[in-house]
Amino acid sequence: MIKVGLVSLGCAKNLIDSEIMVGHLQQAGMTMTPEADLADVLIINTCSFIDMAKKESVGAVHEAVDARGESKKRKRQKIIVAGCLSQRFSQELPGLMPEVDAFIGLDQITQVAPIIQGLMDKDKGEQENLVTRQPQYIPDYDTPRFRLTPKHMAYIKIAEGCNHPCSFCIIPRIRGRHRSRTQESVLKEARQLIESGVKEINLISQDTTYFGMDKWEGERPKPRSGVDSSKGESLSTLIRELNAIPGDFWIRLLYTHPAHWSDDLIAAIAESPKVARYIDMPLQHISDHMLSLMKRETDGAYIRDLLKRIRAGIPGIAIRTTFIVGFPGETEADFNELVQFIEDEKFERAGVFNYSREEDTRAAKMEDQIHHMTRKARWNEAMRAIQRSVEHVNRLQVGKKLRVLVEEPGVARTEMDAPDIDTTIFVDKKLPVGSFADVTVKEWRGYDLVAG
Ligand code: SF4
Repeated sequence: MIKVGLVSLGCAKNLIDSEIMVGHLQQAGMTMTPEADLADVLIINTCSFIDMAKKESVGAVHEAVDARGESKKRKRQKIIVAGCLSQRFSQELPGLMPEVDAFIGLDQITQVAPIIQGLMDKDKGEQENLVTRQPQYIPDYDTPRFRLTPKHMAYIKIAEGCNHPCSFCIIPRIRGRHRSRTQESVLKEARQLIESGVKEINLISQDTTYFGMDKWEGERPKPRSGVDSSKGESLSTLIRELNAIPGDFWIRLLYTHPAHWSDDLIAAIAESPKVARYIDMPLQHISDHMLSLMKRETDGAYIRDLLKRIRAGIPGIAIRTTFIVGFPGETEADFNELVQFIEDEKFERAGVFNYSREEDTRAAKMEDQIHHMTRKARWNEAMRAIQRSVEHVNRLQVGKKLRVLVEEPGVARTEMDAPDIDTTIFVDKKLPVGSFADVTVKEWRGYDLVAG
């Protein structure tokens, strides 16, 4: 029996790809092992979103190659590199990593079992590069998948790829054009998960707000024009249907794009109590100058107005966002506007990325790249503003009764906290893991809350 080890790096979207690979391997009768030394085949599912992620992925591959060279037990082990790094550098990696036995991309994740069978029959040194350009793959409700998340929490990938032109981002080149699943496919998967005991469903894709619109007949909505849900399936129609599934669970929206928000989506969330009062909406900046250079299809006035409409339309909503500082051409005035915006808006949850110059993006070719010391200083300052804002929000929670989902003994998340991204709340260790509980916030410590 073939034993397979897996190292899964990167975001939740990559994690689902790993889960799909494990599902197919198990279906083919292969077993998974957590011990790399015992694996006949080691798959490294990589990330290459920004420089740090690339370094981590390359490091993991080198570590596996070195360990194989040093260990007698691993002498015959095959190494497969999957995921965004192999998809992005499909031409370069085979030459740079001759010790790797095979490179696979997004379109090969369901073929992983026969690929491994083929590798086992081959001599060492015969490298395969199976990556195809412009991936098309999107999972379905019956795609074999073995969940790697806790029993009470699951991700559903509702779409794949991205049609946005953000000038700093390499994702559309890696993951291809936006393609949505059908609403029925997502609903079937959600029903299965809820029946199996899942208490929190996290909807993910590159742009969750664009769900369904790639399938509309005729003209698609332009950015900032609002979305007319009567034209076909959309995130609004999906969450209304998800909310109607019987059971006690949260639906969480991750990775929404501000350009395709609409009043209908705001209304759909407001009238769907199972949708967590939380949205993740990366804004990247607030200065018109930056948003235009970033090609974010939004501007400062639009974003400010959208935030107002969301907060007015969905009482109690927590907004999570991310920003990029040190983007080429960012002036002191642009940066100061951003810090002031963070201070004013008091986002419940937020993060800041230090701009990463990614080859083959438009931004990488721009003049006026910002010195790394300036970028670091701006990152620190923006992070301090965010910390003040989160502490302000946490202070307001003291004395409130909140519903939490218990993650592990003594640790839970509120509706304001997405798994693996946001903060936690410390609760009574006796509360059962994987269940909801109502707790009262006693105090806050930095980013975390403590319940009585
Ligand atoms: S919306 Fe922009 S940042 Fe997000 S994946 Fe698409 S191109 Fe990249």
